[in-house]
Amino acid sequence: MTTIADKLQSVRARIAQACAAAGRPADAVALLAVSKTFGPQAVHAAALAGQCCFGENYIQEAVDKITQVAAMGLPQPLQWHCIGPVQSNKTRLVAEHFDWVHTLDRLKTAQRLSDQRPADLPPLQVCIQVNVDGGASKAGVPPEEALELARAVAQLPRLCLRGVMSIPDELPDAAQQLAVHLRVRQVFDALRAQGGAGFGAFDTLSLGMTGDLEAAVAAGSTMVRVGSGIFGARHYPAVPPA
Ligand SMILES: *Cc1c(COP(=O)(O)O)cnc(C)c1O
Repeated sequence: MTTIADKLQSVRARIAQACAAAGRPADAVALLAVSKTFGPQAVHAAALAGQCCFGENYIQEAVDKITQVAAMGLPQPLQWHCIGPVQSNKTRLVAEHFDWVHTLDRLKTAQRLSDQRPADLPPLQVCIQVNVDGGASKAGVPPEEALELARAVAQLPRLCLRGVMSIPDELPDAAQQLAVHLRVRQVFDALRAQGGAGFGAFDTLSLGMTGDLEAAVAAGSTMVRVGSGIFGARHYPAVPPA
């Protein structure tokens, strides 16, 4: 059986190879291990294999897991990234338990997160989620609204604006994947140029998953979010939890 440590190693090799192919340094792309639906033991195994950043989509599941993993003891501190939608009634949990939020697409949510971020924690690191290929029903702001939201978020005292995130629809071939990823890259570059010094450490392009990480790295991703490539296939409960 292939262990989590083995799969983690092959994902790291894929990233290194994609960086080499794109003429980028091997450490230009961070790996976020997406552990949604997997238990604390899986996170613990990945952490023992050197992984420190984990992504979660479902807030209550994540908060339980964060507590359980902390109780298991680890040599390194872990970083938790929220990569799922954040409903208003969940902002406090997110502000109290996560280090990053990738999915900001409304100012109201950003304001609540800033207000609710505990004073003893560093500012919450955030990315603006951009929707480059979907209709109005898809999460994320359209590219033409991204700058206005980013400017407002950059003013919030307890948030630190770090960049742009996107979840392009799955596409079958590498050329199509690259084309849509390059549109996200353009939004990232435009925001960074227009935001200037006011955006501080605007250095993160959160783009690419198990199926399209090569295209994302070619397009300039600085953080790929990989779940099934590390932990295996996900099994969702037949009935969603209440
Ligand atoms: C689940 C998820 C991932 C990981 O997807 P895989 O295809 O399993 O790598 C990445 N990003 C987001 C936003 C997700 O919800």
